[in-house]
Formats: sequence, C-alpha cells, structure tokens
Amino acid sequence: MKLVVKQCVCLFMFSLLSEAVLAKEKVLVVGAGIVGASIGYHLSLEEVEVTIIDMQSPASHASLATFAWINASWAKQPQAYHALNQQSVGYWHELSKQIGVPVKWGGSLEWFESSDRQEKLGLQVAEQIDWGEAAEILPVVSAKMLEPNVTFMGADNVAYSANDGAVDPSQATKKLLSAAQTNGAKVIYPCKLNGIAKTLKGEIADTTCGPMPFDQIVLAVGAASKTIANIAKLNIPQRSTPGIIVVTEPTEPLLNRIIVAPGVHIHQRFDGRIVVGEQAGAPKTSAHNLRLKGRPNRYPSQVLAQDHAQRVLDLAVKYVPRLTNVKADEILIGWRPLPLDGHPVLGYSSEEPSVYIAVSHSGITLAPIIGRLVAKELIEKRPLEVLNAYRPNREFITVVRY
Ligand SMILES: Cc1cc2nc3c(=O)[nH]c(=O)nc-3n(C[C@H](O)[C@H](O)[C@H](O)COP(=O)(O)OP(=O)(O)OC[C@H]3O[C@@H](n4cnc5c(N)ncnc54)[C@H](O)[C@@H]3O)c2cc1C
Repeated sequence: MKLVVKQCVCLFMFSLLSEAVLAKEKVLVVGAGIVGASIGYHLSLEEVEVTIIDMQSPASHASLATFAWINASWAKQPQAYHALNQQSVGYWHELSKQIGVPVKWGGSLEWFESSDRQEKLGLQVAEQIDWGEAAEILPVVSAKMLEPNVTFMGADNVAYSANDGAVDPSQATKKLLSAAQTNGAKVIYPCKLNGIAKTLKGEIADTTCGPMPFDQIVLAVGAASKTIANIAKLNIPQRSTPGIIVVTEPTEPLLNRIIVAPGVHIHQRFDGRIVVGEQAGAPKTSAHNLRLKGRPNRYPSQVLAQDHAQRVLDLAVKYVPRLTNVKADEILIGWRPLPLDGHPVLGYSSEEPSVYIAVSHSGITLAPIIGRLVAKELIEKRPLEVLNAYRPNREFITVVRY
C-alpha cells in the first residue's frame, strides 16, 4: 500500500515537473502590422507559444498606407542607426526568400529642386559612401538611361542608391503571418487588447476575444500611443504625421527604381500598380485639423478622396509624364508611428516588466532586423547592446530629418 502511495506521489511530482519543463513560454504580440508580424514570425521559429492579435486586421494601419521604400539613405542618422538600417536591407534579401515575398530591388534615384539642397545632397552621398553604402552621384544623362520614362526636372545630378528596394507591404505582412502560422503561431483578429491583469496563475490579457494568459506581451501597436500608455504605463512621445498614399490601377511597365523626386515619391510594383506618396503633408488649416482629429485612414467621401488623389497624381505626372491617364485605385491616409527623435522604441517597460514595446518609423525597412533582434531579446531575456540606444526610457528630443 505504502509503495503504491509513494509511486502515485512520484508520478504526480513528475507530471508537475514535466509540465513546468515542457510548458512553452507564452508570448502575446499585439498588432499585426509588419513589425508585429515580423516579431511573431521570428518567435515562431523558436520553442515559444506565439499568439498575434490585431484589433482590425493584418496590415490595416501604417503597414498598408505606406510608401514601403526599403533603404539606408542619408536621413538615417547617426551612423549606428544607419548601420541598423543597412543590416535590415541586407536581411530583407534572405527573409524575402524564406517567406516567399518578392522585393523590387534596383535602387533609388533622388534629387531636390534648390541648388543649395542639391549641394547638401552631394555631401550626404559622400557620407553614405564613407559608411559603406552603394551611393553615388550620377549626371542626369546617366540617370535617364536607368529610367527613360522619368523627367529629372530641375536637376543636373541625381543621387543613386543602388541597394534600395520596395515591397508590397500588405503582402509582406500577410506572408510573415502565414509563415508564423505554419510554424504553429496563432493569428487572431479582430481582437483588441483592452488591458492586462495580474492573477495568482500569472498575467492575463483582457481582449475583445476573451482572456489570454501570457508570460510576455509585445506592444507592436504602431501609432497607438494611448494603448502603450495604458498597458506599459509609459508615455512614448510620438509626433505621428499623416501621409497620403495613392495606389493606381495596373499600368504598362514604366519604372524600375524608386523615384524620390521633389515633393513626391514614386515606384511601380511587380503587378504594374504605381505607388505615389506625397511629401508635403496636410496644410494646418482648421478644416484639416478637424477632419484629421480622429486619425482617419480614408477620406470621408469618394469625391474628396478623388480630388486629393488627382492632386498627388498630378505631382507624379510632372516627373513621369506617361502617368497622365493612369487612374487611382486606392487612396489611403497613413499615420506614421514616429517617436519624437525618429528612432525606434524597443525594450521592456520599466513600469511593467513583462511588457515589451516595439514601435518604429521606417518600419518597412527595419521590420526584418527588428523581428530578429526583438525575438532574441524576448527569448534570451538578455539585452542586446545593438538595441540599447532605442530603449523606452531614453530622453526623447524632437528631431525632424525630412
Ligand atoms: C505615409 C507613410 C509613408 C511611409 N513610408 C515608409 C517608407 O517608404 N519606408 C519605410 O521603411 N517606412 C515607411 N513608413 C513607416 C512604416 O510604414 C511604419 O513604420 C510601419 O508600417 C509600422 O508598422 P507597425 O507594425 O509598427 O505599425 P502598424 O502597421 O500601424 O500596425 C499596428 C497594428 O496594431 C494594431 N493595434 C493597435 N492597437 C491595438 C490594440 N489595442 N489591440 C490590438 N491591436 C491593436 C492596429 O490595428 C495595427 O494593425 C511610412 C509610413 C507612412 C504612414
């Protein structure tokens, strides 16, 4: 009898022990934009139980309404941040093969209107070369040979950055998520995180799709700084600015590279659609302020949307005249996740130790490297030196680089 009891106790202890040993760490990633998707994908490659939720749907916010230029350009300052972008551009080559998403490589061509700014661009390109970037200044005749359909209006010289590329951001986000699902991750939407609670059994996320236990939670919620303040109990100051993105109907092959013209950015996707991003931003009139207050992703009416799209397309036609009769298909307003100093915010909250924040501008460029490094920090629970400059508790100073 004694022996049977002893055996039972042993078995019970063994099953408790093995449960503890076998129970995988539960990581809940909140936000299925490209940053959350990449973190979720990289976690799914490890022995972790990953769930990714989104209050709307994958790539429904900044990762939809983005220009999606992959670059380590002059604006990526200082050198350490530039190097992080370079690494990510390099890693895009590998990741795009892993998840089966094509990136349109071929480089970018950039120029400005004023001679002062052009002169500065020359200096910035020289710095890029020093930092190991494949950048050079081309005379317009050479640029014209690369892009015969572009009018390099107002320029004698053009900066050529051969390593740059562009991606369909929605496709890339969805591919990352489906690769994560193949590896066993759960992707749930619409599902909004409302809060977190501490219980005797551990921490629970209060979501619109039910309670979710977690060991670590990642807030990859982009420009939703109120969510970060509520959950991470930290104020990450952002100056999220809106940008208009117009995606046209498919058209004949016109562009091979990314065109960074004065006031407007243009590239053509593999499916023939042209993507145009306006650089100026909305004028600060009271009508605009009122309309933009709720951070809409679409215009309130089709007429207004078409008016704005035409204005943006007219800008593009100045530099690519063959776009004259090309029609807008999607007209989007994107809100940049933009910490005040322009750099990513990556790290645990000092107030909520199980909450990790992952917010970044240039998130299309940086998603691969952020995904890889953040997943490593979450799994190893050891800070990586390369991310130390981007911690949430740093002092934020406003820096406007564009
Ligand atoms: C106009 C514009 C042009 C840009 N151009 C470029 C460029 O050329 N190159 C480049 O590299 N970057 C560019 N960016 C920046 C880039 O698009 C972003 O950095 C990137 O998309 C951020 O991805 P994300 O996943 O962090 O955020 P998002 O894509 O915004 O995803 C955040 C997600 O979190 C979800 N969410 C929020 N709160 C909750 C909650 N409480 N519960 C559940 N889910 C929640 C949202 O629904 C959303 O889907 C541009 C951005 C804009 C707006």
